[in-house]
Amino acid sequence: METRSQVVGRLQAAFRSGVTVPEEFRRAQLTGLMSMIRDNEELIVNALHKDLAKPKFEAILSEVDIVINELHHAIANVKSWMQPEYVSKNLATKLDECFVRREPLGVVLIIGTWNYPLQLLILPMVGAIAAGNCVVIKPSEVSAATDSLIAELVPKYLSQDCYAVVRGGPEETKALLQNRFDHIFYTGSQTVARSILQAASVHLTPVTLELGGKCPCFIYGRVNIAAAARRLVWAKFFNSGQSCVAPDYVLCSQATQDALLPALREALEDFYGKEPQTSPDLSRIVSPRHWTRLMELLKRSSGKVVLGGESDQEDKYIAPTVMVDVAEDDALMKEEIFGPILPILTVESLEKGIDFINRNEKPLALYVFSDESSVVNTVLEKTSSGGFCSNDGIVHMTLPGLPFGGVGASGWGSYHGRWGFEAFSHRRACMLRGWALERLNGLRYPPYKDNKLSWLRWTTSAKNSCSLM
Ligand code: NAD
Repeated sequence: METRSQVVGRLQAAFRSGVTVPEEFRRAQLTGLMSMIRDNEELIVNALHKDLAKPKFEAILSEVDIVINELHHAIANVKSWMQPEYVSKNLATKLDECFVRREPLGVVLIIGTWNYPLQLLILPMVGAIAAGNCVVIKPSEVSAATDSLIAELVPKYLSQDCYAVVRGGPEETKALLQNRFDHIFYTGSQTVARSILQAASVHLTPVTLELGGKCPCFIYGRVNIAAAARRLVWAKFFNSGQSCVAPDYVLCSQATQDALLPALREALEDFYGKEPQTSPDLSRIVSPRHWTRLMELLKRSSGKVVLGGESDQEDKYIAPTVMVDVAEDDALMKEEIFGPILPILTVESLEKGIDFINRNEKPLALYVFSDESSVVNTVLEKTSSGGFCSNDGIVHMTLPGLPFGGVGASGWGSYHGRWGFEAFSHRRACMLRGWALERLNGLRYPPYKDNKLSWLRWTTSAKNSCSLM
């Protein structure tokens, strides 16, 4: 069996051979990845069910189809993404070829997490392959069934010289990180991100961080309360709240809360029935450790459970739960919940809601529910977040045209669609010059003279830019 450093060394040799660079190779591997997902849809759905009791419907939507759509988009566009991007020039460079060339970085490492264990590995991998890199993927050991399925399938469908799966938990990942990579793409918690950064700093490796945090859902002004409740319940309890872009908490006025609670009760009953534990449409908490963490949060909270609250340790089940009277310093507000618990906090004005959001770390996603476009626009303008969506939750991340990523503590960098290709490309500044216009060029040579400087300033001025090749 190869050691981790032998795997990395083998991929480095493949990268140096240049095999990953031609467009045909990239397209062939992306097509292989597409076959991997298509041929094994049932095995994927079963593995996700084993790991999280993920309903087939959610597995298809959020793991299978999102990856297939990304692959279609990449296969259709990789040729145009690879084209040089010509830039405008000034008089002094008008005969030169000046362009940005996207080049692969080398051997990149993608570390995934357990909540969308297929999507969060394969989607970045699409960008990395499209950009012409060799790739090591490290699935999360927590979602063990998907981890082992990915390790089995990838070598069957992709070039083994260029792509590898390395498995293991924290210790194995730390050992893997001692190798030199050309880029590290990490999805997971802010705590682990700090260790990743430390390891990356040894080799000065650039890093993309896809992290989490607390995504607010601010409901303000006139609003279609029944639709708001349905969309909120769907976005929050999809995958039992274990989504990095799930609404973490609701901010609204007391009057809105009074109207919202019966609507939430109705939506929950419509979706999951009177006994949600018997519903096939609710995932389970991924592990006993995560179940205990969530139950501890519930115990430490001084809020009041108004909906749900039931749990079953054996079944790793926590009912969709809504809490009110939650203070800003409550245990539930100290960390990302990442589970099926929805606290509601009341604020009485638009400004106070915006202040609340801005007092906290910049979130990965920010949701505003309102019929009033002035409310939506004010929140959009006065806050910052990785992504923003009005009158819905999560869906903004399904479009490959929109970059997906955080800002500040919710993450560095972004991917999806072209943004994924860019995340794994080096933008090389190229100027191809000949020997023409030597007199014009000679203006910069000593001996320096004032008149030469005036001419030079004129020929290099941005005002004299032109688009000639
Ligand atoms: P996790 O436990 O699966 O860890 C993530 C990865 O890091 C795994 O592959 C794991 O093996 C590895 N790892 C764990 N400890 C390590 C260590 N000490 N050193 C090196 N590697 C280590 O997942 P998690 O950390 O529980 O992830 C949950 C977090 O991920 C939440 O905060 C969530 O919001 C965030 N998340 C973000 C996104 C996003 O796209 N921005 C998506 C999903 C989850």
